[in-house]
Amino acid sequence: MGELRKGSLKHASGRGSAHGVAELARQRRERRKARRRLQARFNRPVWRITLGVVALAIILLGRFVEEVSFDLAPESRFDVTKVIDGDTVELSGGDRLRLLFIDSPERGQPFYDSALALLDSLTINKRASLIFGRRQRDGYGRLLAVVEAGNVNVNQRLLERGFANIYLFKDNLKDTLLADQLQLMLEAQRKAIHNRVGLWSLERSPEDYYLSSHSSLRFHRPGCRSVAGRQHTALDRYAAREEPLVKGLSPCRNCRP
Ligand SMILES: [Zn+2]
Repeated sequence: MGELRKGSLKHASGRGSAHGVAELARQRRERRKARRRLQARFNRPVWRITLGVVALAIILLGRFVEEVSFDLAPESRFDVTKVIDGDTVELSGGDRLRLLFIDSPERGQPFYDSALALLDSLTINKRASLIFGRRQRDGYGRLLAVVEAGNVNVNQRLLERGFANIYLFKDNLKDTLLADQLQLMLEAQRKAIHNRVGLWSLERSPEDYYLSSHSSLRFHRPGCRSVAGRQHTALDRYAAREEPLVKGLSPCRNCRP
């Protein structure tokens, strides 16, 4: 493009005088027109939206890069000083740590005390090694890890006893650093469901079927507001409660299927 323009200019000036001047003016007009066309194009709403999306992507990418950077060495060892609830502990440095992949009952729910007691007995005053994924902290600044203490994989043990259920987020599924750990957890929960221990021993009012959105990692009772009114083509349907559980989906916290 640059070459072409240079060539045509030389040609125009070669002929000199009025012709050359007219030619230069014409080229200036052309360039102005092109610039206006370009401006008009970028002023269209669709382009504004596109630019907005690109800007957002850059910001999010920046955050992702930040999250990947480790502030603790992956092989770090810590003393667990306090158990906060069935899936959160405090470490000697004051950091809180949320156990990856799992969710324990809240205070007042069945097996809350059991989860707390087991976590306490497995970790308090023991050296813990932490297995991190790509994301070392959550939005609250808590560490996210699988905890091994006294040769016991604590997250796995809580699932095996039925004192927690699997609770995944989409980035867990993509995290290659934790792929083996994820398989361990799924297997532990399968065993607990099969043995009907802990949470899996509780009687629940069964539904004829259960539902989840295609892209979601939670499943629901048919009457839950999260799926109400959704087109059936947008939902996966399960005949039994175990089906979504085995796949790693978790019960919705509202409709508690
Ligand atoms: Zn629900």
